[in-house]
Amino acid sequence: MASAWTGRLAGDLLDLLFPPRAEEGHLREHLPPFCARCCAPGFPLCPRCQENPPRFLWARASYRYSGAVKQAVLQLKYGKQIDRIPWLAELLEIGFRTYAANFAWDALIPVPLHPVRERSRGFNQAEEIARLLGMRQGIPVKKALLRVRPTPPQAALPSPERASNLVEAFRPQRNFDLVGKNLLLVDDVITTGSTARECAARLWELGAGTVCVLAVARS
Ligand SMILES: [Zn+2]
Repeated sequence: MASAWTGRLAGDLLDLLFPPRAEEGHLREHLPPFCARCCAPGFPLCPRCQENPPRFLWARASYRYSGAVKQAVLQLKYGKQIDRIPWLAELLEIGFRTYAANFAWDALIPVPLHPVRERSRGFNQAEEIARLLGMRQGIPVKKALLRVRPTPPQAALPSPERASNLVEAFRPQRNFDLVGKNLLLVDDVITTGSTARECAARLWELGAGTVCVLAVARS
């Protein structure tokens, strides 16, 4: 598990230091056909959503997690290049206009980082891009969830461990009455979808009306 994570981190850092030149400046839209619920490969529904439907109505991403998008996310997260935030927020807004503009959203909910990680990074990238999108679209941003347990990278764990790993990972902040509200969860990257599933399940348990998920990219 540790070696899988180490290998993944090493790969990310190599991408950061030596970007693949062929992909520089290249944006790959995340286009259908994909699962109608979670936008993973699989049409009309991926096997996971058939077996275990998520509590979100849909999850969508503007782009594939590759090329210039991946580069910008890595520069932001590992290089703390906060000047990448406006561009990533623009990419998020492209997805918003495509998938979410016709809904009446009560709030944008950034997927939280564990407070220790947020302190060491200095910011939560999901919250930063959600704030810009919220300002531009006139939608309030509510930090409705708290991450109470740091979670190892999902991709490093086999599936059953992923699910149990996320149980109780998120708690309500109780700073916002979300009963019956239409909520759009915002994240930078959807990797396995487990984090979005767990956040949506928490919001649903708390009485949210509709929960959907929007990210800049899906890997
Ligand atoms: Zn699915």
